[in-house]
Amino acid sequence: MIHLKMYIDGEWKEAENQETRPVINPANGEHIAYAPEGTVADARAAIYAARKAFEDGVWSGLSAQERASYLFKIAHKIEEYAQELTQLETEDNGKPLREAGFDVGDAAACFRYYAGLITKPDGYTYHVADPIQAMVVREPVGVCGLIVPWNYPLLMSVWKIAPALAAGNTIVFKPSEVTPVTPMKLFEIFEEVGLPKGVANMVMGAGPVVGNEIASHPEVDMISFTGGTKTGKNIMKTAAETMKKVSLELGGKSPNIIFADADFETAVDYALFGIYSGSGQVCSAGSRILVEENIYDRFVARFVERAKKIRVGPGNDPSTEMGPLVSQQHLEKVLGYIEIGKQEGAAIACGGNRILNNGLDKGYFVEPTVFVDVKQEMRIVQEEIFGPVVVIQKFQDEEEAVKLANGTVYGLAGGVFTNDGAKGLRVIKKLRAGITWVNSYHPTYNEAPWGGYKQSGIGRSLGTVGLEEFQEVKQININLQVEPVGWFSN
Ligand code: NDP
Repeated sequence: MIHLKMYIDGEWKEAENQETRPVINPANGEHIAYAPEGTVADARAAIYAARKAFEDGVWSGLSAQERASYLFKIAHKIEEYAQELTQLETEDNGKPLREAGFDVGDAAACFRYYAGLITKPDGYTYHVADPIQAMVVREPVGVCGLIVPWNYPLLMSVWKIAPALAAGNTIVFKPSEVTPVTPMKLFEIFEEVGLPKGVANMVMGAGPVVGNEIASHPEVDMISFTGGTKTGKNIMKTAAETMKKVSLELGGKSPNIIFADADFETAVDYALFGIYSGSGQVCSAGSRILVEENIYDRFVARFVERAKKIRVGPGNDPSTEMGPLVSQQHLEKVLGYIEIGKQEGAAIACGGNRILNNGLDKGYFVEPTVFVDVKQEMRIVQEEIFGPVVVIQKFQDEEEAVKLANGTVYGLAGGVFTNDGAKGLRVIKKLRAGITWVNSYHPTYNEAPWGGYKQSGIGRSLGTVGLEEFQEVKQININLQVEPVGWFSN
C-alpha cells in the first residue's frame, strides 16, 4: 500500500486534518494507496510557499540556462524511473502498460523540449522615434495554479509543469483525486534534483475544495486547467474575480471524416485507434466517425468486426489492448450514456455492456461500443461520453461532412481520411478545431500547440505557444537622451 503525501515548501505533508482517501486500481477495485484529503488550509500553505519562492527570486532569478539544467535532470530521472512510473500509471489509471510506457517517454521528452526552448532567443526590439530604444521581453506570470485530470495523470502534469517552470514561475499543482500516484513520484524527482524549496508545491484533495481555493486565491496569478468543460467554466468564473490569466484545455466530441477514396484499411485502423485507445478517455478522441455514404455499410461492418476483437483486460497483462475505465463513478456515467443512446433510438452495432466475465467483474470494463442510426441532435452525438463509445454517421458530400463535423459546441480535434490531397486540406481548413490530422489520428508532438476552438477551451499547451501561456509580455522603452520632457512651462 502506497502512502501518498503532499509536497509543500519542500516538505512532505499529511493533510492538516490528517484525513485520507483511498486510491483504487480500476482493473480490480483494490486499494493501492491512501492520499491526503487536502483542505483549504493546505492549499493556502502551498500558495504562500509558492508566492514567497517567487518573490525571493530563488527560481525566476536563475538564468535560463540554470533552470534548463534542472529540467534536463528531471527528464533524465523520469527515464531512470521509467519502469516504475509505467507500472504505477497502469495500476492507478488502468491504461495498458504499452500506453503508460509511451506517456512516460513523452513526459521526459516534454521536459527536455522546454529545457531547450527556454535558452533560445526571446523577445524583440522595435523602432520608435529617437532617442528611445524600445524592446519587448517575456517574464514569468508569477504563481501558477495547475489543475489536471485523471486520464493522463503523469503526462498532463508534465505538459503544464515543464513550461511553467521553464518560464520561471513557481507552481501550486493539484492532481486528480482519482490518480495522484505518478504525480507524487514526479515531485519526489523534483526533490531529488534539488529544486529550490517552495518552487513546486503539490496539494491533493477534492476539486471543489482545494481546486477551488487555487482558482480563487488572490495570490495565484494564473490558472492552467485541463478537464471537463463544465468544471472549466466554473474555474473561469471563479478566476475572473481576481482577474487571473486563464488557460483551459477542455472536452471534445471530435469528428473523424472518412471519404470513399481513402485507403480503406488505414482509415478503419486509425478510426479504431482514435476512439478505443485510452478506452476513449482521451480529450481528442475521434468519438464521431463520419463516413461517405457509398462506403458506409462496408465501413461499419469492418469496424465492428475489428472492434469486437479488441482484447479488453487489466492493463498489467501485456496482451491487453484496452483497459478499464478509471473509476466506478465514471463507469456509471459511460453506461448511463449508452442507455441514453438506446432511449434516443440509436442502434447498437456492437458492445453496449459492462464486461463481467473473464475475471473482469471487479473492474470497470466496458465493451468497445458502436452506435449507428444516429441523428445529429442526439445527446450521444453532441455530448462528451469519454469512454469506448463511438457514433458512426453517414454523409453525402464534402459540404455535409463539414456541416456535421462542426455541428457541436466543441472544437478540439478532427481527422480526414482521403487520397485526394487538395480535398483533405480543404476540409481540414473548414474544421473549427485546433488539432487536426490528414490520413492519421492522435499523434501529438511537443513542438506543436495543443488546444481547442469553441467550448473546447482557451489557450494552448505545448510548442512555443505553450511556453508563452506561462509568460507575461513587457515593453521596455529606454530614453537614451536623459533630459526633462518640457511639457509644462513652469
Ligand atoms: P473534472 O474536469 O471535474 O476534473 C479535472 C480536475 O479538476 C480534477 O483535478 C478535479 O478535482 C478538479 N476540479 C473539479 N472541480 C473543481 C473546481 N470546482 N475547482 C477547481 N478544480 C476542480 O473531471 P471529472 O473527473 O469530474 O470528469 C468529468 C468529465 O470531464 C468526464 O466525464 C469527461 O467528459 C471530462 N474530462 C475531460 C478531460 C479532458 O482531458 N478534456 C479529462 C477528464 C475529464 P478532483 O480530483 O476532485 O476530481
